[in-house]
Amino acid sequence: MAAKWSNWAGDASCRPARIERPANRAELVDAVRRAAVEGQAVRAVGAGHSFGDLACTGGVLLRLDRLTRVLDVDRDSHLVKVEAGIGLRVMNETIWSHGLSLENLGDIDRQTVSGAISTGTHGTGSGFRNMSTQVEAVELALPDGSMIEISADSEPEALPAARIALGALGVIATVTLRVVPAFTLRRVDSPRPLGEVLENLDDLADGSDHFEFYVFPHTETALIRQSERTADEPRPRNAVSEFAQEIVLENWAMDAISRIGRAMPSRIPALARFAAGQVGRSEKVDRSYRVFASQRRIHFVEMEYAIPRRHAAEAIRSVLEVAERPELRVGFPIEVRFAAPDDSHLSPAHDRDTAYVAVHMYEGMPFEAYFRAVEEIMDGYGGRPHWGKRHFQTAATLAPRYPRWEEFLALRDRLDPRGAFRNAHLDRVLGPPSALA
Ligand SMILES: Cc1cc2nc3c(=O)[nH]c(=O)nc-3n(C[C@H](O)[C@H](O)[C@H](O)COP(=O)(O)OP(=O)(O)OC[C@H]3O[C@@H](n4cnc5c(N)ncnc54)[C@H](O)[C@@H]3O)c2cc1C
Repeated sequence: MAAKWSNWAGDASCRPARIERPANRAELVDAVRRAAVEGQAVRAVGAGHSFGDLACTGGVLLRLDRLTRVLDVDRDSHLVKVEAGIGLRVMNETIWSHGLSLENLGDIDRQTVSGAISTGTHGTGSGFRNMSTQVEAVELALPDGSMIEISADSEPEALPAARIALGALGVIATVTLRVVPAFTLRRVDSPRPLGEVLENLDDLADGSDHFEFYVFPHTETALIRQSERTADEPRPRNAVSEFAQEIVLENWAMDAISRIGRAMPSRIPALARFAAGQVGRSEKVDRSYRVFASQRRIHFVEMEYAIPRRHAAEAIRSVLEVAERPELRVGFPIEVRFAAPDDSHLSPAHDRDTAYVAVHMYEGMPFEAYFRAVEEIMDGYGGRPHWGKRHFQTAATLAPRYPRWEEFLALRDRLDPRGAFRNAHLDRVLGPPSALA
């Protein structure tokens, strides 16, 4: 029987015809070519941290966990070239030893570099763009057995399309990123009244390098997180206090509360108020990548929308009204982050100052009614979903939200005219290549 693959969240699984783990570029190129000759679809998978069936296939699944080397680090130009399957954590540690850092990161570092850029993974910071904008070049294995490079030099028009491509253009073999000199971050978490946060949102969003906040449904409390770049030396917490804060408080306690809520949904509002009451001030000063990313041991399903930043406060109020409907049983906080506009064709922050609003549901609890109701709110703001998280959009509803949509599809028609990289998810969100429509 074919091997089963499932993602981190456990909300998607598939039985590929086979799973291959190429050990080098030649094997990667050959795996893609052979699959195409056999008429099998090909999907590359990273760390499986996307929600839903984005990476699934009944064809050939390529795991790139043997393509994890740092190939080149240039301290002068700040360019770093890596193999596509390298995990962000390992990459961050390696480039730190060369005095370099990624400019921004999301809230975990378990993803692979190719998986993270392919869905537009982002952190927070109104002056910072999502991770894929740091991509200067990618090498792609194509179904005809060729490998092409897309970079500002070789294909300047194609680069903004190739940065966020959902695995639809080819299998990424290498990524070249523009990084920055290594820096320390000071992060301060503190609870605030929600009304105060929403009234002062612009000042808060622009008042620190990296600002985000969590809203606890059924309460009027927000936890704000402000991170500043500092010239201070990193002051890593000792292992015990790190364990107490990140594992016990942020994971075990939240997990325990969520489990009780799942078993006794009528208690969810009281549990949410209890959880909000536990958050206090905390500070962390460490290497940037250790501050941006933390451990997530609690499992959940997530949807996240990018909306024009000017609508953020109003949208959050509306989402909160939905989240507090008793029948939806929402106990998980709503997370709000910010990003600068960018020019990647499929970037949810394309060409606009953006607020990201994320909603979650604890594993094993029904999420569809909640997510659909939130999605309806986001539709009203021309919201663009995170490509690696749950949503219910289709190519027809997405196309008008992306000014460069047709250019992306034209590049796909050129690189994958026969749809070798298709799966059911891509057919829903992009539609098939023109020749097959
Ligand atoms: C706990 C948790 C926290 C998260 N936090 C954040 C966050 O802070 N910010 C944020 O924006 N997102 C976040 N995400 C979402 C996550 O960053 C994205 O879904 C990301 O794409 C996952 O990377 P991955 O390596 O697991 O890729 P996968 O999920 O395995 O794959 C993602 C996509 O990339 C494609 N792909 C992977 N490798 C290749 C390749 N070599 N060539 C071509 N295509 C490829 C796959 O086919 C698929 O389409 C989080 C997810 C989880 C589960």
